[in-house]
Amino acid sequence: MEAFRYRADELHCEQVPLQRLVNRYGAPLYVYSQTHIVGQLQQLDAAFCRLDRLICFAVKANSNLSVIRALARSGAGFDTVSGGELRRVVEAGGDPRLCAFAGVGKTSPEIEYALRLGIYCFNVESEPELEMIAAIARRLRRRAPIALRVNPGIDPHTHRYVSTGKHESKFGIPLERALAVYRAARTLGGVEIRGVQMHIGSQITSTAPFVLAIRKMLPLIAQVRALAPGALQFFDIGGGLGIRYRRERPPTAAVFARAVEPYLRGLGLRILLEPGRFLVGNGGVLVTRVLYVKRTPAKQFVITDAAMNDLIRPALYDSYHEILPVRKPRGPRRRMITADVVGPICESGDFFAQGRRLATVATGELLAVMSAGAYGMVMASNYNSRPRPAEVLISGRHVALVRPREKVEELTDCEKIAAWLR
Ligand SMILES: *Cc1c(COP(=O)(O)O)cnc(C)c1O
Repeated sequence: MEAFRYRADELHCEQVPLQRLVNRYGAPLYVYSQTHIVGQLQQLDAAFCRLDRLICFAVKANSNLSVIRALARSGAGFDTVSGGELRRVVEAGGDPRLCAFAGVGKTSPEIEYALRLGIYCFNVESEPELEMIAAIARRLRRRAPIALRVNPGIDPHTHRYVSTGKHESKFGIPLERALAVYRAARTLGGVEIRGVQMHIGSQITSTAPFVLAIRKMLPLIAQVRALAPGALQFFDIGGGLGIRYRRERPPTAAVFARAVEPYLRGLGLRILLEPGRFLVGNGGVLVTRVLYVKRTPAKQFVITDAAMNDLIRPALYDSYHEILPVRKPRGPRRRMITADVVGPICESGDFFAQGRRLATVATGELLAVMSAGAYGMVMASNYNSRPRPAEVLISGRHVALVRPREKVEELTDCEKIAAWLR
């Protein structure tokens, strides 16, 4: 996480000390590095420079408008999974013509909205969905560009909650079925075959599953070409490229490209990538204040003002996040403790770390939960009636509050007491 570094014992995001940000905006606070995020996009783009390519940021990883805008300005397309995400891309100034729309449960209003926007492609996940898209397109007198999301049936060796390319997964159309569905698509009015898509899972830390999946898809691509000559424009190899949270050694963009390029080069198709975590994961941290240090006969607990409602990854995926002191302790304070770092929520799953070796901390000090730029704020909730944190974007010395902290009063704004209870 090169964007987050100590200078004179103070943890900074780019040129800005995190302590100063908390003084101004409070804690807990999400802090993002624009330089890191855009840099990751550029690295991936450069790695694939020998191919016709479009990098579509998976908006679900971090859908803050400023993050979307920064990536749009650098030429990114977007992979979206709801009408709400499409709307965000449009609001942030992204180009809908560079948007793919994925997901197993697209609703009719969402499909209609996407068609009217003129998106690049619907990534279709089932035959009934294909028929629905075709019917809506015919009614609107449009042609919907489609790709089938094909499930290649491989195991990416990642957490089972983020594995999507195995036979038993709810995602995509089984490889064996795909050609028949493409055939059906050809005869349906209202749709136009444009691509082939796959996405096998998330936080994949070796190139082998990608290579295996791509190789399994190549015969299908040839068959679709024979079926619909001239129609196929792209092969979308999905997202899922892993990042370093702890000791993982995920492939760099260059290593990844080198591994897959031999199978893609000869196709003469545009290659789409859908990275989420790779672009934003190590571009963000969650800064939190220590409320109490609690000692029980069995354990020590560091209780922070951030909780699982702010960052649910440890509770949901048992994921590891490095936790660093915002001010590096010196001298005798460097003593280490073993503690659970936990939030105030009334759930045993509300932790950021268990049995973690940390430098001693005291009430009022700040900790940074690292690698929190992906699947952090987007999964935040109001559980326990806790307002969601603020988000700040940094670029060099520049600081922007890109989403203010929710206020407790706002949490009940949309609720009404039932008439018979009044
Ligand atoms: C979640 C998702 C992605 C992004 O996954 P990352 O692991 O964050 O890169 C890409 N494509 C699809 C279809 C997804 O569901």
